[in-house]
Amino acid sequence: MPQNASRQPGRHFLQIPGPTPVPDRVMRAIDMPLIDQRGPEFAKLGKRVLEGIKTIFKTTQPVIIYTATGTGAWEAALVNTLSPGDRVLMVETGQFATQWKTMAEKLGLKPEFIKGDWRTGADPAAIEEHLRKDKAHEIKAVCVLHNETATGCLSPIAAIRKAISAAGHPALFLVDTISSLASTDYRHDEWGVDVTVGGAQKGLMLPPGMSFNAVSDKALNAAKTSKLPKSFWAWDDMLTMNKVGFFPYTPATQMIQGLAVSIDMLHEEGLDNVFARHHRLAEATRRAVRAWGLEILCREPKYYSPTITAVLLPEGHDADAFRALALDTFNISYGASFGPYAKRYFRIGHLGDVNDGWMIGVLGITEMALGLSGIPHKNGGVQAAMDYLVSAHSAGARAAAE
Ligand SMILES: *Cc1c(COP(=O)(O)O)cnc(C)c1O
Repeated sequence: MPQNASRQPGRHFLQIPGPTPVPDRVMRAIDMPLIDQRGPEFAKLGKRVLEGIKTIFKTTQPVIIYTATGTGAWEAALVNTLSPGDRVLMVETGQFATQWKTMAEKLGLKPEFIKGDWRTGADPAAIEEHLRKDKAHEIKAVCVLHNETATGCLSPIAAIRKAISAAGHPALFLVDTISSLASTDYRHDEWGVDVTVGGAQKGLMLPPGMSFNAVSDKALNAAKTSKLPKSFWAWDDMLTMNKVGFFPYTPATQMIQGLAVSIDMLHEEGLDNVFARHHRLAEATRRAVRAWGLEILCREPKYYSPTITAVLLPEGHDADAFRALALDTFNISYGASFGPYAKRYFRIGHLGDVNDGWMIGVLGITEMALGLSGIPHKNGGVQAAMDYLVSAHSAGARAAAE
């Protein structure tokens, strides 16, 4: 940014993996006169979003909406289903998995952490092996992140479900989809998940402040005997009031107005098209990274995230300095780095309301910022991304014509 300037022109490139850019149409819906949260107009809206959100989780079972960020819905998933001292199995995929584990400890649970190197997703075979050793079935829940936001690795939830069943283990299955929901295929019912945790400010394209628990019958049964203390998070009061479209306390009415529109927008585009767009933009981003000669943090292609790509910088280059320079010069925010690779990588979010042209802008900025920072790389990343997008669209057009 030029010296003495207190304003950067144009739109900010918000490429952190959440909050993501909020579409103007969602903003307009939020910017509406307030209504009575116990009146008939709200009852209609409440019923509409409580039904609509089920289509995003692909469930016919209840979805609870909290006025809280994703962290609140994490806590809700644990305190509604578990009791003090319960053993839970968690997988160290990265920073967010570690935070959920720390929360479990603070709540008086006994997490067992399958070690990871922060460069892959959760391995179904390791989960199966761990559960097979628990012959007395003392482990009460398996908790996994669908998408580890800190590293850009996606875990195979359907395969993990199969692994739990193959071990003949009755543990509940709790899955965090905060940075994958509404951006990549997810099937709460079909995949036999008991509690799915979701958030507003990533794939759902909303401001932060709303989160979700999709719950199964098995989870609702577990809630009847769960002994961890809960009040604000308790499912039972919520479910009773939700039946008539209301909430036990004042819901974030403006966010719910926005959610109604975001659900509409996802269905207007078509969920499968939304998922295909995220895969396309993720692949374009990875092709750019490879053309630059840089390394993708996620080590194995089978775990590549459709929503986030973490880019490792060569040894001796500070990713935080790179991000600061890019922000100052080009008005872009990237995600930070964590844990064993802190300061070694930056994350490009390619989720939410982003399209091909926007991402070419992001990759163009990134290529310029690499040059400006003196980070050794090859040019041509943007070209590689454009070539891929052209080929993806011509293949798509051919398939549609057939
Ligand atoms: C963002 C995120 C969280 C935390 O959500 P907040 O809304 O910041 O509380 C938890 N898990 C994952 C996977 C996330 O991406």
